[in-house]
Amino acid sequence: MKNIKVGILGGGQLGLLLAQAGIQFPIFISIYDPDPECPAAAHTQNFVQGKFDDYEAILKFGMEHEIILFETEQVNVDALLELQKRGKKVASSPQTLEWIQDKGRQKQVLKEAGLPVPHFEDAPADKIREYDGPFPIVQKWRTGGYDGYGVQIHLDKASIQKAPEVDSILEEKIDIDKEIGVLVARNEAGEIAVYPPVEMVFDPEANLVDYLIAPARIEENLERVMKALAEKMAEKMEFIGIYAIEFFIDRNGKIFVNEISPRPHNSGHHTISANVTSQYEQQLRIVLGLPLGSAQQISPCVLVNLLADQSTGDTHYVGLEEAYRIPNVQYTFYGKQTVRPSRKMGHALILEKTLEKAVERMNDIRSTLTITSHE
Ligand code: ADP
Repeated sequence: MKNIKVGILGGGQLGLLLAQAGIQFPIFISIYDPDPECPAAAHTQNFVQGKFDDYEAILKFGMEHEIILFETEQVNVDALLELQKRGKKVASSPQTLEWIQDKGRQKQVLKEAGLPVPHFEDAPADKIREYDGPFPIVQKWRTGGYDGYGVQIHLDKASIQKAPEVDSILEEKIDIDKEIGVLVARNEAGEIAVYPPVEMVFDPEANLVDYLIAPARIEENLERVMKALAEKMAEKMEFIGIYAIEFFIDRNGKIFVNEISPRPHNSGHHTISANVTSQYEQQLRIVLGLPLGSAQQISPCVLVNLLADQSTGDTHYVGLEEAYRIPNVQYTFYGKQTVRPSRKMGHALILEKTLEKAVERMNDIRSTLTITSHE
C-alpha cells in the first residue's frame, strides 16, 4: 500500500479524533473546515478553509485526495456523490447521508424498512399550528436541527399555536426510560461489526449528553434485539462505513429507533481506549479496504463531557493538577480558545472495573475541574 491521501470534511472533535487514528495507517490526512481555529486544525499540517455547502470547493478538495471522510452531516451531498462517481472512496456512504439529512424522509425510510419507529406525521410549515391533538407531541424540524435544537415538546394546543412555522414532523412522545447508542460498522466485503450498546444520560438544562455508560445497564434480551436490529439495518440498507444508531427504550421495555448518524459519533469516543478497535480506526479500515477490527469492549467505562461553566470569554482550566491526580482517567481537550455557557470543551474517559467506581470518579472530576472564563 502506498501512502494514501485522506481528506476529512469537518475539523471538530470527531475530525480531530479521526485524524489522530490516522497514525495507525500509512496515510496522509488533511482537514477541511470553515473555521481555521477548529479543534483539528491545530494538529494538522494540511488545513483547507471552506464551507460545508460549497459544492465546488468540496469537489476540489476531494479531487486532491483518494479518500474522503466527513464528521458532520451538513456537508454538500451532491459533491460527495460526484466524487464517488469520479472513483473516489467516500465514507460513510453518501447515499445514506442523502436521506438522513431530512428527518421526515429518514423516518419514512426507517418505517418502510420495517423498523420500529415512533408514530409520526408530516407537518408542513403552514399547517403546523392547526394540529389538534393528541398531546403531548414532539415537533422536529425536518432540517436545520442539531443537538436537540429544532426539537420541541408541545404539551397542549396553546403551545402548538405558538410553534415555530418550520417544515416539521410531529412525533408521538415516548415515555423514555433509556436512550441507547449502538455503533455498527460494515465494509465492502459485507463484514459487519456491532459495538456493545451505550447508555446516554442527558443533562436536561444544557440539552446535551451529560455522560455515557458502556456497556449499557440493560437486560440481555434488549441488548440482543438492538444489536440484531443494527445488523439488519447495516445489511438491508447496505451501509458502508461506521454508523451510530440511536434507540429509545420506553418504560415498558419497548424499543424504538430514533435516528441514524452515518459517521463516527459522540457516543463512541470511549471506543478509543475501552474497545479493541475504535470507531475511528474502524472507519479508516473500511475506506482503506482492510478487514474490520473487533468491536469487543475490554473495560467497562463512563465517559463524561467536560462542559464550560455559565461564563463567556477566554478559556481557563481551574483545578487541572488535581484532576490529573484522579486515577484511571484519560482526558481529551478540544482546544477551544473561548468558553460559552455549557460549551463542550472536552471529555474524560474513566476506565474502572465497576460502574459504581467509575461514577464515583466522575463526581470527583466534576468537583475538581472547572472550565471557565474566570482566572
Ligand atoms: P437531535 O438530532 O437534534 O439530537 P433527537 O431526535 O435526537 O434530535 O432529539 C433530541 C432529544 O429529544 C432526544 O435525545 C430525546 O431526549 C428527545 N426526544 C426526541 N424524540 C422524542 C420522542 N419521540 N419522545 C420523547 N422524547 C424525544
